[in-house]
Amino acid sequence: MKLHVTVLGAGFGGLELSTLLSEALGDQLELTLIDQNDAFFFGFSKLDVLFGKKPAGAVKIPYQTIVKPGVIFRRETVTAIDPVTRTVTTLNGTYEADVLVVALGANYDIGATPGLAEWGNEYYSFAGAEKLRDILPGFTKGHAVVGVCNAPFKCPPAPSEGALMLHDYLVDKGIRDACGISLVIPFGSPIPPSPDSSKALLKAFEERDIRFIPQRKVSSIRKLTSAEGSTKIVVLDDGTQLPCDLFLGIPQHVAPDVVLQSGLPENGWIPVDRTHLRTKYPNVYAIGDVTSVGTPKAGVFAEGAAKVAAASIIAAFNGSGNTSPYTGAGSCYIEFGKGTVARVDVDFFSGPKPVGVHHEASTALVADKIHFGASRKSRWFGI
Ligand SMILES: Cc1cc2nc3c(=O)[nH]c(=O)nc-3n(C[C@H](O)[C@H](O)[C@H](O)COP(=O)(O)OP(=O)(O)OC[C@H]3O[C@@H](n4cnc5c(N)ncnc54)[C@H](O)[C@@H]3O)c2cc1C
Repeated sequence: MKLHVTVLGAGFGGLELSTLLSEALGDQLELTLIDQNDAFFFGFSKLDVLFGKKPAGAVKIPYQTIVKPGVIFRRETVTAIDPVTRTVTTLNGTYEADVLVVALGANYDIGATPGLAEWGNEYYSFAGAEKLRDILPGFTKGHAVVGVCNAPFKCPPAPSEGALMLHDYLVDKGIRDACGISLVIPFGSPIPPSPDSSKALLKAFEERDIRFIPQRKVSSIRKLTSAEGSTKIVVLDDGTQLPCDLFLGIPQHVAPDVVLQSGLPENGWIPVDRTHLRTKYPNVYAIGDVTSVGTPKAGVFAEGAAKVAAASIIAAFNGSGNTSPYTGAGSCYIEFGKGTVARVDVDFFSGPKPVGVHHEASTALVADKIHFGASRKSRWFGI
């Protein structure tokens, strides 16, 4: 007997889940992994592209290199999901399966923030990071704002990383004194579950003269034109206006349209149980950023959820019993600038409240982060 599985989305969650099912079931598995892209890239590689540390081609890993027993990759765009019949429609055809896993991640609603498309930039999409990389050299003086438009957003440390890496970029160009940097985030501290990581980041901001504006969101970006010329203004949700010559935005996140139209989400994201990562529909799972499971939207948590969902799918197929519930634990690396990386080990569900253990920024953790990426690349792509 074979298990037929359709996995939608070959990101962190979909790749880890497909790998685990292939390892456990091999030839008993017929899994179709569908993604609209031809290549995978780590979220953090967008920062490398933005600040010119790596060319775009160097961070993309082609899906055609996936060779795993029982797994077929299809580059197709999903246009409809019927969770009742577990039927998926793409631009190329339809798929039916015993088990359906939705791992389609989060998209960006640029239009939700007036003026963002016209007067701002974002670095959360690959195309956005590439565009900003080309704009950055023209920023030689004035005020840069790194700003979050709404929560939830992927990788809570990434706005802080953006501000610290921008500082280094401007220092390297010898123009830091001519530029101001402000960072706007909707939390009271940079990384709420870890007071120590937050303290270290606040110290780094102070040392680098980065203005930290907590508990605020960017609600719009305007262009004012007067006799003296035109200026851009970033407007926060309390009406505060920040003059801005360069906006590096974190846009509002939304589930992909095809998910919103599927009947799976409630309040914008797919609810799942924490024991199996199952949706309310039989044999339909959802993992990663597309869910409202209660962890931040980050690759490490998508990967952790994939492990739990895979264990549940394998146990059901083998007719075996219990699997361990999702602990919501994961380690996030934080680019601290000056060639160092910090790490925070966060656990969301084991205790009464989320806790994070901070590991000071160091060059040793740079190697740790490189190993993290390389080990996933080797595991998922065999290269
Ligand atoms: C700047 C930045 C830095 C980050 N740094 C980190 C970090 O250091 N550590 C960390 O853990 N996380 C980090 N993240 C977050 C991380 O990238 C995401 O949280 C993670 O990729 C989510 O995994 P996922 O499997 O849920 O979704 P994704 O990895 O986003 O995968 C979803 C896939 O679905 C596909 N898809 C969507 N719609 C369709 C459709 N209609 N048809 C076909 N395919 C479709 C997409 O092409 C995509 O490949 C960062 C993110 C950003 C933006």
